Amino acid sequence: MKKKIKELEFGSLGYDYNSLEPYFDAQTMELHYSKHHQTYFNNLQKSASEHNVGDLTLEELFAQMDEHPAFLRNNAGGHYNHRLFWDLLKLNGGTEPIGNFGEAIRNEFGSYQAFREQFAAAAAGRFGSGWAWLSLDDTGKLFISSTPNQDNPLMNHIAQKGSPVLGLDVWEHAYYLKYQNRRPEYIDAFWHVVNWSAVEKRYNSLR
Ligand code: MN
Repeated sequence: MKKKIKELEFGSLGYDYNSLEPYFDAQTMELHYSKHHQTYFNNLQKSASEHNVGDLTLEELFAQMDEHPAFLRNNAGGHYNHRLFWDLLKLNGGTEPIGNFGEAIRNEFGSYQAFREQFAAAAAGRFGSGWAWLSLDDTGKLFISSTPNQDNPLMNHIAQKGSPVLGLDVWEHAYYLKYQNRRPEYIDAFWHVVNWSAVEKRYNSLR
């Protein structure tokens, strides 16, 4: 059961700030989770209450997102996107996608390497702040896209709609302390901290 927005909890990160070192540094993780994400969450609750959408789930809100103000959209996306991001990170020791999901990646993109290149291009090519996504469309096909700001492929104003399977935050706050302007190095680092087992579970739960 998906929770109503007003019943959502901020939730713990699920691991220590230094768990993803040296790829994602502890200071960035702490600021990103305890300051940036916490602020999105607090503003989501405030804005959802003001606009009387606290009884909706986030998914229900995203399906009618274009009827609501940008402040609500930015903070609802900000909470959803970061929760998804944290839940899919873990040092992976250089492993590759596994199981059904690994098979789907190879079927759709040709190889894990080809998938990585296409995803990295979407992440590097997003001008300014936003996210890169791997999503499942309503025919069950995987596709890569990117969205600006805190938008995501569940929002009804987004052209390429789908259910996010994996997301990468490419806001500067996600990488500037360690990588400064070198977003491609941060994207390379990301492949060392994707929790493929959690991604496979998410993929299977969406099909
Ligand atoms: Mn972020």
